[in-house]
Amino acid sequence: LIRGIGDDAAVLRLPRGHEILVTTDFSLEDIHFRRHWAAATSIGHRTLLRGLSDIAAMGGIPLAAFLSLAVPRNLPQPWIDGFLTGLVRLATRFGVSLAGGDTSQSPEKVLADIVVVGSVPRGRAVLRSGARVGDRIYVTGQLGAAAARLARLYSARQTRIGRPRAGGLPLPRVAIGQFLRHKRIARSMIDLSDGLSTDLSHICEESKVGAEISEQSIPRARLDHTRVGMKFALHGGDDYELLFTADPRTRVPPTIGGTSITQIGEIKRARKLILCDAEGRRVELQPEGWEHFG
Ligand SMILES: [Mg+2]
Repeated sequence: LIRGIGDDAAVLRLPRGHEILVTTDFSLEDIHFRRHWAAATSIGHRTLLRGLSDIAAMGGIPLAAFLSLAVPRNLPQPWIDGFLTGLVRLATRFGVSLAGGDTSQSPEKVLADIVVVGSVPRGRAVLRSGARVGDRIYVTGQLGAAAARLARLYSARQTRIGRPRAGGLPLPRVAIGQFLRHKRIARSMIDLSDGLSTDLSHICEESKVGAEISEQSIPRARLDHTRVGMKFALHGGDDYELLFTADPRTRVPPTIGGTSITQIGEIKRARKLILCDAEGRRVELQPEGWEHFG
């Protein structure tokens, strides 16, 4: 970063031989978050997390973030302070500067838009379109915790048992994304923001292929020592793990930096998603993530 906040535009210098990555994500109150269900710091964290996770999914190096924030006039200042604390803490942890943005007043809700700029060696960005028939499909970490936690918040509200505690905050898989790109392991990659079924369908669409995954191999997260339901792992969003495909001849390590890497299926020629259940039945899987509700 040559010049950040304080000028009319930020000035960034790219590492030699690199290309620029740019991603933008809305975080809108009552669409992406509920102000009364989570701490302001956690909402700030998640706002930036969405952008950093996109850079990770390209195998990129995040460089700078730009935040446009509109808040209602009556919003307490401590909420804004908390939001920025959560966002800047995550930025600092990943060596990203908050290099600019804009603030405005909104009529009623909090509206945040984050732009994250990153870089990747020329021609080496890992795209969604790189999957080939026969590729093995892998995911990092465990899936479904965020959606299971959200479902619990919903039911808690309905039964009036009070406000549950906020859960742990996921971190973007930046180092793993770079490792998979640098070692030429991943041929295609996406971050799991909308849910496994939806995000895998994006890979298939862009690569013009299909996929078969096995229910039993999907690594389900634990919440209070219990494995989350299969629907949360299959369709739940906001996990920010990475999904990638690799040539079957490529050796994929079982863990990267302490995070488990699990093979969940294979890329197929027939352009549909097939789920193989515990009894060996094969059913077509419909993408039912975030976009389904849209
Ligand atoms: Mg993404």
